[in-house]
Amino acid sequence: MAEGTGAGPVVIVGGGLAGGNAAVTLRQEGHRGRIVLISQEPGIPFGRPPLSKTYLRSEESLDGWYVKPASWYEAHDIERPGQVTAVSVDVAAHTVLLDSGRELGYRQLLIATGGRNRRLDIPGADLPGLYYLRTVAECDAIKREARPGRRAVVVGMGFIGCEVAASLTQLGVTVTTVFPAKLPLQRVLGEQVGTIIGAFHRASGVDLLAGEQVAAFEGTERLEAARTASGIRIPCDFAVAGIGIIPQVPAMGGSALATGNGLLADELCRTSGPDVYAAGDVANQLHPIFGRVRVEHYNNAEKQGRAVARSMLGSAAPYDYIHSFWSDQYDHKLEYVGHAATWDDFVVRGSLEEGKLIGFYLTGGQLQAAVGVDRGGDPELDRDSEMAACARLVAQRAQPARSLLTDEHADLWSLVKK
Ligand SMILES: Cc1cc2nc3c(=O)[nH]c(=O)nc-3n(C[C@H](O)[C@H](O)[C@H](O)COP(=O)(O)OP(=O)(O)OC[C@H]3O[C@@H](n4cnc5c(N)ncnc54)[C@H](O)[C@@H]3O)c2cc1C
Repeated sequence: MAEGTGAGPVVIVGGGLAGGNAAVTLRQEGHRGRIVLISQEPGIPFGRPPLSKTYLRSEESLDGWYVKPASWYEAHDIERPGQVTAVSVDVAAHTVLLDSGRELGYRQLLIATGGRNRRLDIPGADLPGLYYLRTVAECDAIKREARPGRRAVVVGMGFIGCEVAASLTQLGVTVTTVFPAKLPLQRVLGEQVGTIIGAFHRASGVDLLAGEQVAAFEGTERLEAARTASGIRIPCDFAVAGIGIIPQVPAMGGSALATGNGLLADELCRTSGPDVYAAGDVANQLHPIFGRVRVEHYNNAEKQGRAVARSMLGSAAPYDYIHSFWSDQYDHKLEYVGHAATWDDFVVRGSLEEGKLIGFYLTGGQLQAAVGVDRGGDPELDRDSEMAACARLVAQRAQPARSLLTDEHADLWSLVKK
Protein backbone atom coordinates (compact mmCIF):
# COMPACT_ATOMS: atom_id res chain seq x y z
CA MET A 1 0.00 0.00 0.00
CA ALA A 2 1.37 3.39 -0.99
CA GLU A 3 2.29 5.73 1.77
CA GLY A 4 -0.38 8.35 2.40
CA THR A 5 -3.35 7.06 0.36
CA GLY A 6 -6.94 7.70 1.45
CA ALA A 7 -6.87 10.91 3.41
CA GLY A 8 -3.27 11.31 2.21
CA PRO A 9 -1.34 14.47 1.43
CA VAL A 10 -1.66 17.02 -1.28
CA VAL A 11 1.23 16.17 -3.57
CA ILE A 12 2.72 18.79 -5.89
CA VAL A 13 4.98 17.48 -8.62
CA GLY A 14 7.25 20.30 -9.79
CA GLY A 15 8.84 22.78 -7.42
CA GLY A 16 9.05 25.71 -9.81
CA LEU A 17 7.13 28.96 -9.72
CA ALA A 18 3.67 27.43 -10.15
CA GLY A 19 4.27 24.55 -7.72
CA GLY A 20 5.87 26.83 -5.14
CA ASN A 21 3.06 29.38 -5.27
CA ALA A 22 0.49 26.61 -5.01
CA ALA A 23 2.16 25.14 -1.91
CA VAL A 24 2.37 28.53 -0.23
CA THR A 25 -1.24 29.43 -1.08
CA LEU A 26 -2.59 26.08 0.12
CA ARG A 27 -1.01 26.68 3.49
CA GLN A 28 -1.84 30.38 3.69
CA GLU A 29 -5.48 29.76 2.77
CA GLY A 30 -6.20 27.13 5.35
CA HIS A 31 -5.04 23.69 4.26
CA ARG A 32 -3.91 22.03 7.48
CA GLY A 33 -2.98 18.58 6.15
CA ARG A 34 0.29 17.38 4.67
CA ILE A 35 1.71 19.06 1.59
CA VAL A 36 4.55 17.30 -0.26
CA LEU A 37 6.47 19.32 -2.85
CA ILE A 38 8.41 17.06 -5.24
CA SER A 39 11.16 18.65 -7.30
CA GLN A 40 13.95 17.26 -9.41
CA GLU A 41 15.70 20.62 -9.42
CA PRO A 42 17.95 21.56 -6.51
CA GLY A 43 16.91 24.45 -4.27
CA ILE A 44 13.61 26.11 -3.53
CA PRO A 45 10.98 27.46 -5.96
CA PHE A 46 12.11 30.61 -7.73
CA GLY A 47 11.44 32.79 -10.77
CA ARG A 48 13.66 32.24 -13.80
CA PRO A 49 13.55 35.72 -15.44
CA PRO A 50 16.95 36.89 -14.07
CA LEU A 51 18.65 33.83 -15.64
CA SER A 52 18.60 35.52 -19.04
CA LYS A 53 19.10 39.03 -17.66
CA THR A 54 20.49 40.37 -14.37
CA TYR A 55 21.77 37.08 -12.92
CA LEU A 56 23.39 36.12 -16.23
CA ARG A 57 25.16 39.48 -16.20
CA SER A 58 26.15 39.03 -12.51
CA GLU A 59 24.17 42.14 -11.56
CA GLU A 60 21.77 40.43 -9.18
CA SER A 61 21.56 37.32 -7.02
CA LEU A 62 18.44 35.17 -7.00
CA ASP A 63 17.49 36.25 -3.47
CA GLY A 64 14.65 38.50 -4.60
CA TRP A 65 13.21 35.80 -6.87
CA TYR A 66 12.43 33.06 -4.36
CA VAL A 67 8.73 32.41 -3.82
CA LYS A 68 9.60 32.13 -0.09
CA PRO A 69 12.88 31.56 1.73
CA ALA A 70 13.77 27.95 2.62
CA SER A 71 12.92 28.55 6.29
CA TRP A 72 9.31 29.36 5.35
CA TYR A 73 8.67 25.85 4.01
CA GLU A 74 10.11 24.34 7.18
CA ALA A 75 8.14 26.66 9.42
CA HIS A 76 4.94 25.79 7.57
CA ASP A 77 5.46 22.03 7.41
CA ILE A 78 5.76 21.79 3.65
CA GLU A 79 7.64 18.57 2.99
CA ARG A 80 10.39 18.80 0.37
CA PRO A 81 11.96 15.35 0.12
CA GLY A 82 15.22 16.45 -1.55
CA GLN A 83 15.93 16.27 -5.25
CA VAL A 84 13.58 13.60 -6.58
CA THR A 85 11.82 12.91 -9.85
CA ALA A 86 8.27 11.68 -10.15
CA VAL A 87 8.69 8.89 -12.68
CA SER A 88 5.01 8.10 -13.10
CA VAL A 89 1.54 8.91 -11.88
CA ASP A 90 -1.29 6.41 -11.45
CA VAL A 91 -4.48 8.42 -11.42
CA ALA A 92 -6.76 5.47 -10.66
CA ALA A 93 -4.69 4.37 -7.67
CA HIS A 94 -3.97 7.99 -6.63
CA THR A 95 -0.22 7.33 -6.41
CA VAL A 96 2.99 8.91 -7.61
CA LEU A 97 6.09 6.76 -8.08
CA LEU A 98 9.35 8.52 -7.28
CA ASP A 99 12.78 7.63 -8.69
CA SER A 100 13.84 6.80 -5.14
CA GLY A 101 11.45 3.84 -5.37
CA ARG A 102 9.06 5.46 -2.90
CA GLU A 103 5.38 5.35 -3.83
CA LEU A 104 3.40 8.26 -2.53
CA GLY A 105 -0.38 8.25 -2.25
CA TYR A 106 -2.24 11.49 -2.64
CA ARG A 107 -5.59 12.98 -1.83
CA GLN A 108 -5.09 15.64 -4.47
CA LEU A 109 -2.29 15.99 -6.99
CA LEU A 110 -0.98 19.11 -8.72
CA ILE A 111 1.19 18.64 -11.78
CA ALA A 112 3.34 21.74 -12.21
CA THR A 113 6.24 20.25 -14.10
CA GLY A 114 6.89 23.16 -16.49
CA GLY A 115 8.72 22.44 -19.71
CA ARG A 116 12.03 21.13 -20.90
CA ASN A 117 14.16 22.81 -23.52
CA ARG A 118 13.72 21.73 -27.09
CA ARG A 119 17.16 20.49 -28.27
CA LEU A 120 18.88 20.74 -31.60
CA ASP A 121 19.23 17.43 -33.39
CA ILE A 122 21.97 18.31 -35.87
CA PRO A 123 25.57 17.21 -36.44
CA GLY A 124 27.87 18.57 -33.74
CA ALA A 125 25.05 19.20 -31.26
CA ASP A 126 26.90 17.02 -28.74
CA LEU A 127 30.07 19.15 -28.84
CA PRO A 128 31.00 20.90 -25.59
CA GLY A 129 30.26 24.59 -25.94
CA LEU A 130 26.56 24.36 -26.90
CA TYR A 131 24.25 25.50 -24.12
CA TYR A 132 20.54 25.68 -23.35
CA LEU A 133 19.01 27.80 -20.63
CA ARG A 134 16.40 26.93 -18.06
CA THR A 135 18.16 26.12 -14.80
CA VAL A 136 20.63 27.97 -12.59
CA ALA A 137 23.31 25.39 -13.45
CA GLU A 138 22.79 26.03 -17.16
CA CYS A 139 22.96 29.77 -16.58
CA ASP A 140 26.17 29.43 -14.52
CA ALA A 141 27.74 27.43 -17.36
CA ILE A 142 26.92 30.20 -19.87
CA LYS A 143 28.25 32.81 -17.43
CA ARG A 144 31.61 31.04 -17.35
CA GLU A 145 31.82 31.30 -21.17
CA ALA A 146 30.64 34.90 -21.43
CA ARG A 147 33.88 36.86 -21.22
CA PRO A 148 34.63 40.07 -23.12
CA GLY A 149 36.12 39.46 -26.55
CA ARG A 150 34.61 36.01 -27.03
CA ARG A 151 32.21 35.16 -29.87
CA ALA A 152 28.84 33.48 -29.45
CA VAL A 153 26.15 32.20 -31.76
CA VAL A 154 22.62 32.48 -30.40
CA VAL A 155 20.18 30.11 -32.09
CA GLY A 156 16.56 31.31 -32.09
CA MET A 157 15.25 34.82 -31.49
CA GLY A 158 12.23 34.20 -29.31
CA PHE A 159 12.30 35.73 -25.83
CA ILE A 160 15.17 33.60 -24.50
CA GLY A 161 17.28 34.14 -27.63
CA CYS A 162 16.66 37.91 -27.65
CA GLU A 163 17.42 38.33 -23.94
CA VAL A 164 20.52 36.13 -24.03
CA ALA A 165 21.80 37.94 -27.14
CA ALA A 166 21.32 41.25 -25.33
CA SER A 167 22.95 40.13 -22.08
CA LEU A 168 25.93 38.51 -23.81
CA THR A 169 26.44 41.69 -25.85
CA GLN A 170 26.31 43.73 -22.65
CA LEU A 171 29.01 41.44 -21.25
CA GLY A 172 31.31 42.25 -24.16
CA VAL A 173 30.69 39.09 -26.18
CA THR A 174 30.38 39.43 -29.97
CA VAL A 175 27.04 37.88 -30.87
CA THR A 176 25.64 36.48 -34.11
CA THR A 177 22.06 35.28 -34.02
CA VAL A 178 20.56 32.72 -36.41
CA PHE A 179 16.79 32.31 -36.63
CA PRO A 180 14.28 31.11 -39.21
CA ALA A 181 11.83 34.05 -39.13
CA LYS A 182 12.34 37.35 -40.94
CA LEU A 183 12.50 39.27 -37.66
CA PRO A 184 13.07 38.60 -33.95
CA LEU A 185 9.89 37.75 -31.99
CA GLN A 186 7.87 38.07 -35.19
CA ARG A 187 5.51 35.16 -34.46
CA VAL A 188 4.40 36.59 -31.11
CA LEU A 189 4.59 40.33 -31.70
CA GLY A 190 4.29 40.77 -35.46
CA GLU A 191 6.31 42.50 -38.11
CA GLN A 192 6.21 46.08 -36.84
CA VAL A 193 7.41 45.26 -33.34
CA GLY A 194 9.82 42.64 -34.67
CA THR A 195 11.40 45.37 -36.82
CA ILE A 196 11.92 47.55 -33.75
CA ILE A 197 13.46 44.72 -31.75
CA GLY A 198 15.74 43.86 -34.64
CA ALA A 199 16.85 47.50 -34.71
CA PHE A 200 17.61 47.42 -30.95
CA HIS A 201 19.90 44.44 -31.48
CA ARG A 202 21.59 45.83 -34.57
CA ALA A 203 22.20 49.14 -32.80
CA SER A 204 24.05 47.20 -30.10
CA GLY A 205 26.23 45.42 -32.65
CA VAL A 206 24.47 42.05 -32.89
CA ASP A 207 24.69 40.39 -36.28
CA LEU A 208 21.21 39.09 -37.20
CA LEU A 209 21.09 36.18 -39.66
CA ALA A 210 17.34 36.07 -40.32
CA GLY A 211 15.60 33.41 -42.40
CA GLU A 212 18.40 30.99 -41.57
CA GLN A 213 18.87 27.79 -39.59
CA VAL A 214 21.95 26.31 -37.98
CA ALA A 215 22.46 23.03 -39.83
CA ALA A 216 25.59 21.84 -37.97
CA PHE A 217 28.16 22.74 -35.38
CA GLU A 218 31.80 22.17 -36.20
CA GLY A 219 34.80 21.57 -33.97
CA THR A 220 37.22 18.89 -32.90
CA GLU A 221 37.39 18.90 -29.10
CA ARG A 222 34.68 21.50 -28.66
CA LEU A 223 32.46 23.81 -30.66
CA GLU A 224 34.42 26.10 -32.98
CA ALA A 225 31.84 27.23 -35.54
CA ALA A 226 28.22 27.04 -36.58
CA ARG A 227 27.32 26.25 -40.18
CA THR A 228 23.98 27.52 -41.50
CA ALA A 229 21.65 25.70 -43.91
CA SER A 230 22.75 28.06 -46.69
CA GLY A 231 26.40 27.26 -45.98
CA ILE A 232 27.55 30.30 -44.00
CA ARG A 233 30.27 29.37 -41.48
CA ILE A 234 30.21 31.42 -38.27
CA PRO A 235 33.35 30.92 -36.13
CA CYS A 236 32.46 31.09 -32.44
CA ASP A 237 33.67 30.12 -28.98
CA PHE A 238 30.30 28.92 -27.74
CA ALA A 239 26.60 28.85 -28.68
CA VAL A 240 23.30 29.15 -26.85
CA ALA A 241 20.11 27.68 -28.32
CA GLY A 242 16.76 29.12 -27.28
CA ILE A 243 14.38 27.24 -29.55
CA GLY A 244 11.39 26.74 -27.29
CA ILE A 245 10.21 24.27 -24.70
CA ILE A 246 8.22 21.07 -24.68
CA PRO A 247 5.64 20.79 -21.88
CA GLN A 248 6.90 18.17 -19.47
CA VAL A 249 3.97 15.82 -18.82
CA PRO A 250 4.96 13.03 -16.43
CA ALA A 251 4.56 9.42 -17.54
CA MET A 252 1.27 7.81 -16.64
CA GLY A 253 1.00 4.37 -15.14
CA GLY A 254 -2.49 3.04 -15.94
CA SER A 255 -4.99 5.42 -17.51
CA ALA A 256 -3.69 8.58 -19.12
CA LEU A 257 -4.70 12.17 -18.55
CA ALA A 258 -6.00 14.12 -21.54
CA THR A 259 -3.15 15.94 -23.25
CA GLY A 260 -2.60 18.11 -26.28
CA ASN A 261 0.16 20.71 -26.19
CA GLY A 262 0.49 20.07 -22.43
CA LEU A 263 -1.99 18.78 -19.90
CA LEU A 264 -5.55 19.76 -20.69
CA ALA A 265 -7.18 21.57 -17.80
CA ASP A 266 -10.57 23.22 -17.36
CA GLU A 267 -11.40 26.71 -16.09
CA LEU A 268 -10.65 25.56 -12.53
CA CYS A 269 -7.33 24.01 -13.61
CA ARG A 270 -8.68 20.45 -13.16
CA THR A 271 -7.32 17.81 -15.53
CA SER A 272 -9.35 14.88 -16.87
CA GLY A 273 -8.20 12.74 -13.92
CA PRO A 274 -10.02 12.73 -10.58
CA ASP A 275 -8.31 15.01 -8.03
CA VAL A 276 -5.54 15.90 -10.49
CA TYR A 277 -4.84 19.55 -11.29
CA ALA A 278 -2.33 21.32 -13.53
CA ALA A 279 -0.74 24.77 -13.52
CA GLY A 280 2.10 26.75 -15.09
CA ASP A 281 3.92 26.09 -18.35
CA VAL A 282 2.65 22.49 -18.54
CA ALA A 283 -1.06 23.40 -18.31
CA ASN A 284 -3.17 23.96 -21.40
CA GLN A 285 -6.10 25.62 -19.71
CA LEU A 286 -9.59 26.45 -20.92
CA HIS A 287 -9.50 30.17 -20.24
CA PRO A 288 -12.89 31.92 -20.00
CA ILE A 289 -11.78 34.69 -22.37
CA PHE A 290 -8.98 33.28 -24.52
CA GLY A 291 -10.20 29.70 -24.94
CA ARG A 292 -7.66 26.92 -24.67
CA VAL A 293 -4.26 28.42 -24.01
CA ARG A 294 -0.90 27.27 -22.67
CA VAL A 295 1.21 30.14 -21.43
CA GLU A 296 4.96 30.14 -20.80
CA HIS A 297 5.28 33.25 -18.67
CA TYR A 298 6.15 34.21 -15.11
CA ASN A 299 2.93 36.07 -14.23
CA ASN A 300 0.82 33.11 -15.32
CA ALA A 301 2.87 30.53 -13.41
CA GLU A 302 2.65 32.66 -10.27
CA LYS A 303 -1.05 33.49 -10.52
CA GLN A 304 -2.20 30.12 -11.85
CA GLY A 305 -0.21 28.47 -9.05
CA ARG A 306 -2.21 30.52 -6.55
CA ALA A 307 -5.51 29.98 -8.38
CA VAL A 308 -5.10 26.21 -8.63
CA ALA A 309 -4.50 26.04 -4.88
CA ARG A 310 -7.81 27.82 -4.33
CA SER A 311 -9.54 25.39 -6.71
CA MET A 312 -8.04 22.50 -4.73
CA LEU A 313 -9.46 24.08 -1.59
CA GLY A 314 -12.94 24.14 -3.14
CA SER A 315 -13.20 27.55 -4.81
CA ALA A 316 -15.48 27.63 -7.86
CA ALA A 317 -13.89 30.79 -9.28
CA PRO A 318 -12.49 30.22 -12.77
CA TYR A 319 -8.91 31.22 -13.44
CA ASP A 320 -9.47 34.17 -15.76
CA TYR A 321 -6.27 36.19 -15.38
CA ILE A 322 -5.66 38.46 -18.36
CA HIS A 323 -2.23 37.15 -19.24
CA SER A 324 0.70 39.50 -19.18
CA PHE A 325 4.45 39.28 -19.54
CA TRP A 326 7.49 41.45 -19.93
CA SER A 327 10.89 41.23 -21.54
CA ASP A 328 14.02 43.30 -20.88
CA GLN A 329 16.58 43.70 -23.65
CA TYR A 330 19.45 46.21 -23.21
CA ASP A 331 17.72 49.19 -21.59
CA HIS A 332 14.50 48.52 -23.50
CA LYS A 333 11.40 47.20 -21.83
CA LEU A 334 8.51 45.33 -23.42
CA GLU A 335 5.19 44.86 -21.65
CA TYR A 336 2.39 42.70 -23.07
CA VAL A 337 -1.15 42.05 -21.91
CA GLY A 338 -3.80 39.72 -23.34
CA HIS A 339 -3.36 36.88 -25.77
CA ALA A 340 -3.36 37.12 -29.56
CA ALA A 341 -2.18 34.08 -31.49
CA THR A 342 -3.45 35.82 -34.65
CA TRP A 343 -4.91 39.23 -35.37
CA ASP A 344 -6.27 41.10 -38.40
CA ASP A 345 -5.38 44.64 -37.39
CA PHE A 346 -2.45 46.24 -35.58
CA VAL A 347 -2.97 49.79 -34.39
CA VAL A 348 -0.17 52.01 -33.10
CA ARG A 349 -0.25 54.74 -30.49
CA GLY A 350 3.12 56.43 -30.44
CA SER A 351 6.00 56.10 -32.84
CA LEU A 352 7.24 53.02 -34.67
CA GLU A 353 10.21 55.07 -35.92
CA GLU A 354 11.30 56.06 -32.42
CA GLY A 355 10.50 52.55 -31.13
CA LYS A 356 8.29 53.94 -28.38
CA LEU A 357 4.67 52.88 -28.59
CA ILE A 358 1.69 50.90 -27.53
CA GLY A 359 0.57 48.48 -30.21
CA PHE A 360 -2.97 47.09 -30.16
CA TYR A 361 -3.76 43.66 -31.63
CA LEU A 362 -7.37 43.47 -32.83
CA THR A 363 -9.53 40.80 -34.46
CA GLY A 364 -12.82 41.91 -35.99
CA GLY A 365 -12.38 45.20 -34.14
CA GLN A 366 -12.09 43.51 -30.73
CA LEU A 367 -8.97 44.15 -28.66
CA GLN A 368 -7.13 40.87 -28.06
CA ALA A 369 -3.81 42.10 -26.73
CA ALA A 370 -1.52 45.10 -26.46
CA VAL A 371 2.21 45.56 -26.36
CA GLY A 372 4.10 48.46 -24.85
CA VAL A 373 7.58 49.15 -26.14
CA ASP A 374 9.43 51.51 -23.81
CA ARG A 375 6.12 52.92 -22.59
CA GLY A 376 2.88 51.77 -21.11
CA GLY A 377 4.03 50.68 -17.63
CA ASP A 378 4.02 47.32 -15.86
CA PRO A 379 0.35 46.34 -15.43
CA GLU A 380 1.16 44.32 -12.32
CA LEU A 381 3.22 47.00 -10.55
CA ASP A 382 1.32 50.05 -11.75
CA ARG A 383 -2.43 49.53 -11.63
CA ASP A 384 -3.05 52.96 -13.18
CA SER A 385 -0.76 52.39 -16.15
CA GLU A 386 -1.84 52.35 -19.78
CA MET A 387 -1.09 48.62 -19.96
CA ALA A 388 -3.37 47.99 -16.96
CA ALA A 389 -6.11 49.86 -18.86
CA CYS A 390 -5.43 47.62 -21.89
CA ALA A 391 -5.82 44.51 -19.71
CA ARG A 392 -9.23 45.76 -18.56
CA LEU A 393 -10.27 46.47 -22.14
CA VAL A 394 -9.24 42.95 -23.19
CA ALA A 395 -11.24 41.50 -20.28
CA GLN A 396 -14.26 43.54 -21.37
CA ARG A 397 -13.89 42.32 -24.97
CA ALA A 398 -13.86 45.98 -25.92
CA GLN A 399 -14.10 47.18 -29.52
CA PRO A 400 -12.49 50.61 -29.20
CA ALA A 401 -12.53 52.95 -32.18
CA ARG A 402 -9.21 52.97 -34.04
CA SER A 403 -9.17 56.78 -33.89
CA LEU A 404 -9.25 56.68 -30.08
CA LEU A 405 -6.52 54.06 -29.87
CA THR A 406 -4.17 56.12 -32.02
CA ASP A 407 -5.00 59.43 -30.31
CA GLU A 408 -2.39 60.19 -27.63
CA HIS A 409 -4.87 62.60 -26.00
CA ALA A 410 -7.57 59.95 -25.54
CA ASP A 411 -7.11 58.46 -22.08
CA LEU A 412 -7.27 54.66 -22.42
CA TRP A 413 -8.91 54.50 -18.99
CA SER A 414 -11.83 56.54 -20.35
CA LEU A 415 -12.59 53.61 -22.70
CA VAL A 416 -12.87 51.16 -19.80
CA LYS A 417 -16.46 50.46 -18.71
CA LYS A 418 -16.98 51.22 -15.02
C1 LIG B 1 15.84 32.01 -18.73
C2 LIG B 1 14.38 32.29 -18.60
C3 LIG B 1 13.95 33.61 -18.53
C4 LIG B 1 12.59 33.91 -18.44
N1 LIG B 1 12.20 35.21 -18.40
C5 LIG B 1 10.88 35.51 -18.34
C6 LIG B 1 10.44 36.87 -18.34
O1 LIG B 1 11.23 37.81 -18.39
N2 LIG B 1 9.11 37.12 -18.27
C7 LIG B 1 8.19 36.11 -18.21
O2 LIG B 1 7.00 36.37 -18.15
N3 LIG B 1 8.59 34.80 -18.19
C8 LIG B 1 9.90 34.48 -18.26
N4 LIG B 1 10.31 33.16 -18.27
C9 LIG B 1 9.29 32.08 -18.22
C10 LIG B 1 8.96 31.68 -16.78
O3 LIG B 1 10.14 31.55 -16.05
C11 LIG B 1 8.19 30.36 -16.80
O4 LIG B 1 6.94 30.61 -17.43
C12 LIG B 1 7.97 29.80 -15.41
O5 LIG B 1 9.19 29.42 -14.85
C13 LIG B 1 7.05 28.59 -15.44
O6 LIG B 1 6.92 28.08 -14.15
P1 LIG B 1 6.51 26.56 -13.91
O7 LIG B 1 6.45 26.39 -12.43
O8 LIG B 1 5.34 26.21 -14.73
O9 LIG B 1 7.72 25.70 -14.52
P2 LIG B 1 9.21 25.61 -14.04
O10 LIG B 1 9.69 26.90 -13.48
O11 LIG B 1 9.96 25.03 -15.19
O12 LIG B 1 9.17 24.54 -12.86
C14 LIG B 1 8.87 23.19 -13.09
C15 LIG B 1 9.70 22.37 -12.14
O13 LIG B 1 9.24 21.03 -12.17
C16 LIG B 1 10.35 20.17 -12.15
N5 LIG B 1 9.93 18.87 -12.70
C17 LIG B 1 9.60 18.59 -13.97
N6 LIG B 1 9.24 17.29 -14.09
C18 LIG B 1 9.39 16.75 -12.87
C19 LIG B 1 9.20 15.45 -12.35
N7 LIG B 1 8.75 14.43 -13.13
N8 LIG B 1 9.47 15.23 -11.05
C20 LIG B 1 9.90 16.24 -10.25
N9 LIG B 1 10.08 17.50 -10.69
C21 LIG B 1 9.83 17.75 -11.98
C22 LIG B 1 11.37 20.91 -13.00
O14 LIG B 1 12.67 20.42 -12.79
C23 LIG B 1 11.17 22.32 -12.48
O15 LIG B 1 11.92 22.55 -11.33
C24 LIG B 1 11.65 32.85 -18.38
C25 LIG B 1 12.10 31.51 -18.46
C26 LIG B 1 13.44 31.24 -18.58
C27 LIG B 1 13.90 29.81 -18.67
